[in-house]
Amino acid sequence: MKQIAVFGSTGSIGQSTLNICRDHRQAFQVMVLAAGSSVDELARQALEFRPEVLVVGRSESEAPLREALGGAAQDFEIMAGPQGLREAAGRPGLDVVVSGITGAQGLPVSLGALEAGTRLALANKESMVMAGPLLDAMARRHQTEIIPVDSEHSALFQCLLSGQSQDLGKLILTASGGPFRTKSRAEMERATLAEALAHPTWSMGPKITIDSATMFNKALEIVEARWLFHVPHEQIDVVVHPQSIVHSMVLWRDGSVIAQMGAPDMRVPIQYAMTHPERLDATLETYSPRLFNGLNFEAPDLERFPSLTLGFLAAERGATYGAVLNAANEEAVAAFMAGRIGFTDIFDRVGQVVERHRPHPEPSLEQILEADAWAREEFSRC
Ligand code: MG
Repeated sequence: MKQIAVFGSTGSIGQSTLNICRDHRQAFQVMVLAAGSSVDELARQALEFRPEVLVVGRSESEAPLREALGGAAQDFEIMAGPQGLREAAGRPGLDVVVSGITGAQGLPVSLGALEAGTRLALANKESMVMAGPLLDAMARRHQTEIIPVDSEHSALFQCLLSGQSQDLGKLILTASGGPFRTKSRAEMERATLAEALAHPTWSMGPKITIDSATMFNKALEIVEARWLFHVPHEQIDVVVHPQSIVHSMVLWRDGSVIAQMGAPDMRVPIQYAMTHPERLDATLETYSPRLFNGLNFEAPDLERFPSLTLGFLAAERGATYGAVLNAANEEAVAAFMAGRIGFTDIFDRVGQVVERHRPHPEPSLEQILEADAWAREEFSRC
């Protein structure tokens, strides 16, 4: 029985993780549940899964959580805030920490899990984008591993098992292209929040859905792949594949292309990250000839999606560029969702912040957090 901690348990990744735990009750025991502000849902999950620890991301949510739990509150150890997240992720005895928290807030979870030597099943790509080399060094030092949950990186991780690193040609990240794949720049300028939230193939949380519409999600994934797999930016490619059946591919030097495929459902990569190198039964149909019928691929349009160029630039320059790209994008998405900026302003504003950045070459955690804060401040000025 594997002991599991689920961070972001009320979000899209967290709910999929708990579905897996429900379908494989003999394999997984939930020990920690952590959520942001959805305390009623967290309380409901707590009463079903009976973990030892509950965590709320913000301290002010602790009292409402205790209230929602009523008399059952005494059955749980309750923690709060970034320190609570880090401590709960580092709890002894855990086998896997699944991190489905959105954004830079997920960094304490990644740090906590790795410093305790616990496997990190990582959906929170932002922490890898911000602090990839630091997290990688930490995983080595504590003899543990980061197994990607992000569907493209889970695909690459599995495809890379078919060869040796010195024979790698390219990592080929697939992208659905999002809801604006075939729209003109003028149409994108007028895009509403509802249009940006209408993803054609994947059902996900709001932040990542906006990121898919701008393709900043793919930009972040370029940087994520750079650090996860120690592959320079020249060996990373992006191809648009609207059906989201091929989750990514590896091209080897001998011309072989290995793809990982299946229905677009996060339960597959989450479950694999929890069980690797073993596998458990699927709980959904991932293959049928009908499903795999008519797969298309096309080159991405860098003119309409300048986000991709910024992703390659952050992967090339390294240093604090990932943290700055991520923080500026988080601010831009929040501003767009609040109706303060237009859709294509996201590209312009993030680009301006990245352009003005003066990097720290080999940043400490403190310098990474400083760069993150600088980018958010700079965003509000431009
Ligand atoms: Mg992805």
